[in-house]
Amino acid sequence: MAENGEATPLVKLDNVNKHYGDLHVLRDINLTISKGEVLVVIGPSGGGKSTLCRAINRLETIDGGTIVFDGRPLPAEGRELARLRSEVGMVFQSFNLFAHKTILENVTLGPIKVRKKARTAAEQRGMELLERVGIASQAHKYPAQLSGGQQQRTAIARALAMDPKMILFDEPTSALDPEMVQEVLDVMVGLARDGMTMVVVTHEMGFARRAANRVVFMAEGQIVEENIPEEFFTNPSTDRAKDFLSKIL
Ligand code: ADP
Ligand code: MG
Repeated sequence: MAENGEATPLVKLDNVNKHYGDLHVLRDINLTISKGEVLVVIGPSGGGKSTLCRAINRLETIDGGTIVFDGRPLPAEGRELARLRSEVGMVFQSFNLFAHKTILENVTLGPIKVRKKARTAAEQRGMELLERVGIASQAHKYPAQLSGGQQQRTAIARALAMDPKMILFDEPTSALDPEMVQEVLDVMVGLARDGMTMVVVTHEMGFARRAANRVVFMAEGQIVEENIPEEFFTNPSTDRAKDFLSKIL
């Protein structure tokens, strides 16, 4: 908490706009994410949710507005950009693990290569993180030998290994078989309770109700509505959100 009693912002987007050619994918996005906050982003396909995540860690450039991360505008290139990327973890729908590396190697690669951490220290911490996500016994296997849920938990451990200031999750359970969704959400709820700042694109309302401080509903590149989860799910204020919720419930 800052001295004035308000939560400290970690990310602040002001009038962010993004086009792909004629397509206006982010329209005047204003959004502040506080330290320790868990923000769920929900909305129809094509609404700009992934682009928003990718803009925050600068996998995408924006063409209007500003994004400030931890007090500084997003760096454009070089060492500052590499640092930003290491401070903002990302977990994708498709896991994106290195197939020819073991689970432990996937988790230690970033700390060793980017952070120049000693191998033994990286492996010790890597094993602690695999323990935390419940797959320490799989450390020496390869991704293809694990279930989808185990692979996604590896991806979360890999993100944590960089000691990120926040983690962006873009539909982390959408590619999983239904019986594996909960084990991944449970790990994410644990992170939320431990105070990790998280942006989570998901339609998992159970997760939103258990862990989110706020839900942002995005459609056609705009933030249409934002509210605490209980209010958003039981009493959405816009027809757009009502219509969307009626289709996914
Ligand atoms: P969501 O994640 O909410 O489904 P996206 O952010 O992926 O939405 O996409 C928003 C819009 O931008 C969609 O119409 C999509 O087709 C388009 N889009 C996304 N990435 C690109 C790209 N690299 N080039 C052109 N259009 C893109
Ligand atoms: Mg998406």
